[in-house]
This record gives sequence, C-alpha cells and structure tokens, in this order.
Amino acid sequence: MTARYYIMLGAPGAGKGTQAKQISEELGLPHISSGDLFRHHLGEGTELGVLAKKFMDSGELVPDDVTIGMVQERLEQDDCSEGAILDGFPRTPAQAEAIELLADQLGGKVAKALYLDVNKALLVERLSGRWVCPDGHVYHTVYHPPKKPGICDIDGLELYQRDDDKKETVEHRITVYLEQTAPLIAYYRERGTLATVDGDQDIEQVQQSLLQEIG
Ligand code: ADP
Ligand code: AMP
Repeated sequence: MTARYYIMLGAPGAGKGTQAKQISEELGLPHISSGDLFRHHLGEGTELGVLAKKFMDSGELVPDDVTIGMVQERLEQDDCSEGAILDGFPRTPAQAEAIELLADQLGGKVAKALYLDVNKALLVERLSGRWVCPDGHVYHTVYHPPKKPGICDIDGLELYQRDDDKKETVEHRITVYLEQTAPLIAYYRERGTLATVDGDQDIEQVQQSLLQEIG
C-alpha cells in the first residue's frame, strides 16, 4: 500500500496536536509531532535536545537540517510504513520540499495538507490555558479540562504548562509562524492538496470537518 502523509498546518494553538491525535486513531496512522520529538530529546538530555532548547525557549524555529534529519529518522521507523499524521512539520518551504522528497523515497506521497484556520485572539486564549502531559496529551482549563485537575485522563501523569506558552513567547511564535510557515498555505494550494477547515469551531466540530475533508 502507498504510504500516506497527512500534514496538519496552522498557527501555534490552532489545535493541530489535539486533532492529529484523534485522526491518528481514526486512520490507524501514527501521530508524529516534531515539537514532541524535540521535547523528548530535551527530556533525555541528548545533544539534539540541548541544541534545540535555545530555539524553542525563544520561540524560534530549530534549523532546517536538524529538524529534517530528526523527522526523517522517525518516519523511517517500521510503524510509519503506511504513512503518518505530521503535526508541526513542515514549518518552512525547505521542510516542505524535504517531505515531498522523503515521501517519494519511502514509496508514498503527501496526501493532504489540513489547514486549521483560527482567529488570532483565540490562539492566544488557547495557548494560555493549555496544559500538557509528558506523553503529549493536551488539555485546556476551559475547553478541554481533565477529569481530575492537573492529572492526565489517559495515563495519570502530572500535567504541566509549557515554558514557551507564556505570553511574550506566544506573541513571537505567532509572528514566526506568519513569516515562515504561513507561506506553506499557498504552497499546498498550488499543488491542489490543501484542505482548509474552520478551526474556530469546537474540538468535535473541527474533527468532523477534518474527517469530511479526508474523505
Ligand atoms: P497546536 O498543536 O496547534 O499548537 P493544540 O492542539 O495543543 O494546538 O491546542 C492548543 C490548546 O487549545 C490546547 O489547550 C487544546 O486543548 C485547545 N484546543 C484545541 N482545539 C480547540 C478547539 N477547537 N476549541 C477550543 N480549544 C481547543
Ligand atoms: P510545537 O510543539 O509544534 O509548538 O513546537 C515547539 C517548538 O519546537 C517550536 O516553537 C520550535 O522551536 C520547535 N519546532 C517544532 N517543530 C519544528 C519545525 N518543524 N521546524 C523548526 N522548529 C520546530
């Protein structure tokens, strides 16, 4: 079977991780988040994690060569043989070219770029209320609270707020997104693989819209 790569596109806080987790279950493809991969390296104290930390803390993008190498290594693993739901990658035109090439090398293709279009005021509100667990499950104090405050429903781990979700960093991350990642919307539109979904809707409605687009 041809490997299918779905790309979740959208600003920080748009809901990419939240939706990718659900689509991953629905389609039976692994959810690969470049941010989670970096945070994993950071937690393990690897050389890559140490390198990425200063970019992540300041809300900048980690350089393309490092990011592409890390994602490539992950996509070459056996569980990705039928494809993956990519969340947070690609984030630059060079990364978009890299995934085209890699998908081809792995005998697959980028099936669709799913763009979550979200109003800026909502992004800030979503990021400021976000709590995550070390395994990447995502909650929101108002929109998606855990059953037990501070504890992940799924694995019982303690939730925390990401350092880069503080207000100053959030503003900068949105600017970086607009400058470096938003041009990918036109890139995928030109290729005929862009599907735009109204990401302002609630989590369940966004999910339904995405599944309709995936078909
Ligand atoms: P991203 O991966 O794009 O940065 P997340 O999936 O982590 O975004 O979502 C950011 C925050 O917004 C989280 O706290 C999440 O629970 C919440 N959230 C995600 N989608 C929605 C939605 N459609 N409506 C309200 N809150 C949402
Ligand atoms: P995220 O979890 O997607 O919000 O990503 C958190 C941080 O990790 C970003 O602000 C970047 O510093 C870094 N990062 C994640 N994905 C990428 C990527 N594709 N390219 C460059 N940096 C990335």
